[in-house]
Amino acid sequence: MVNIKRVRNLKKGRPGNGWVLYWMSRDQRVHDNWALSYAIEVAENEDRPIMVVFNLVEKFLGSTWRQYDFMIKGLRKVESGLAALNIPFMIVLGDPAINIPQFIKLHHISRLVIDFDPLKIKQQWQKEVIRQIDIPVDEVDAHNIVPCRIASDKEEYAASTFRPKITRLLPEFLDEFPPLVRQHESFNKHRINWEVVTITLQTDHSVRPVEWLTPGEKGARAVFDKFLENSMNVYAHKRNDPNEKHVSGLSPYLHFGHISAQRIALDVLKNLPRNEHTEAFLEELIVRRELSDNFCLYNHGYDNISSFRPWALKSLNDHQDDQRDYVYSVREFENALTHDPLWNAAQKQMVYTGTMPGYLRMYWAKKILEWSASPEEALHTAIKLNDRYQLDGRDPNGYTGCAWSIGGVHDRAWGERKIFGKIRYMNRKGCDRKFDTERYISRINTLVRNLSKSPSPQ
Ligand SMILES: Cc1cc2nc3c(=O)[nH]c(=O)nc-3n(C[C@H](O)[C@H](O)[C@H](O)COP(=O)(O)OP(=O)(O)OC[C@H]3O[C@@H](n4cnc5c(N)ncnc54)[C@H](O)[C@@H]3O)c2cc1C
Repeated sequence: MVNIKRVRNLKKGRPGNGWVLYWMSRDQRVHDNWALSYAIEVAENEDRPIMVVFNLVEKFLGSTWRQYDFMIKGLRKVESGLAALNIPFMIVLGDPAINIPQFIKLHHISRLVIDFDPLKIKQQWQKEVIRQIDIPVDEVDAHNIVPCRIASDKEEYAASTFRPKITRLLPEFLDEFPPLVRQHESFNKHRINWEVVTITLQTDHSVRPVEWLTPGEKGARAVFDKFLENSMNVYAHKRNDPNEKHVSGLSPYLHFGHISAQRIALDVLKNLPRNEHTEAFLEELIVRRELSDNFCLYNHGYDNISSFRPWALKSLNDHQDDQRDYVYSVREFENALTHDPLWNAAQKQMVYTGTMPGYLRMYWAKKILEWSASPEEALHTAIKLNDRYQLDGRDPNGYTGCAWSIGGVHDRAWGERKIFGKIRYMNRKGCDRKFDTERYISRINTLVRNLSKSPSPQ
């Protein structure tokens, strides 16, 4: 049974007499999905059939074909996974505020289940849909282990204030998922014409898809298994070395919901001894990741500098007129035209491969602050580039990571210095001490040269 605390009723409504509908959005998987499990449970209790719909929008927070390609390939696997359970899956294209109410009417939906997402655009879609319908609507947090609204009812100051809350609630919420039962209802087994979906979708094709990882639940599991085998036992010591690649690489899968963080945590705790490596990994996966959802849910300015704490805003403001040695435009940043080969290499890695090592993401964003005309412009540039090129972009982790680097969100005040004020500083020398930066630069430049030679799959 799904812990009812994971469920939040958004509308009482009057149940219709047809299907239970799960409007899948953030959590694009069949297994280990609390929203799907809850929808199935409701359908069984009320003896109704269940179906799942996904609404594809053509523009989403600066996404390009890179992210759409990964998502659509994952959704094709969701379709097969649901078909195996005898659950129909539909795709609708366009504005969810129009599509979902129409769909509910057309299919005589009795109840609507949606998955939780703290981003403003998702909350807005949900509000507009709910305003137009009369049936009961439940929201299920299928992304966080401890449901975001239960973990805390306010914006947390830092990991240190959030960690005790999460730790106290984990024994209740880190539970096993119920088995998925094949549904009785046999349905008209029409399959989605994915060619038509792909052709119809008018998205920005200027950023090419990535080919180094396989979308979907199986792809995610393979990456996780490889991490357990090769890197988990050195994670605490080697995760910050971009040449070693001893991190999980799971963030695109977590972002699109191809794997559940809860499954990852359960497997780690079941199969491995608790040591500095598992603790460090679970800190990132649970505390830091769920803290990002907390930030975006309770601070609606998460994508602009109004989300910075007063001490940080004041300090950045005090240093607004400091002389900058370099000031670059968004175009110059985007095209990796700074004076710093390390920054340029990190930028190129993101543009060409859709990812950047975690340690370098911090350096990358902090240098954007140092080389921009203002903190506002720096945050805007960082979010714009992050969302356009990172496969895992447009995620609460991204908004929080940029706000942490540029605005000290969840961080403390540090010694005052030029431009940064009291925001934590990072420099090239620090990177040189941490890892072989020349090796990284040369590796990325070779990779980019090779990728530039290969024909674009667009
Ligand atoms: C400027 C900046 C931008 C960022 N942009 C994104 C983004 O767009 N999308 C994104 O998912 N993450 C982002 N991060 C957070 C973090 O860098 C990535 O999640 C991590 O590098 C992904 O690699 P991994 O999956 O191998 O992580 P691992 O080290 O293997 O960690 C496992 C999981 O823990 C979570 N995690 C790890 N580090 C953090 C962190 N600092 N904050 C929150 N959760 C974390 C992620 O879900 C990650 O997949 C950003 C950080 C910064 C500083």
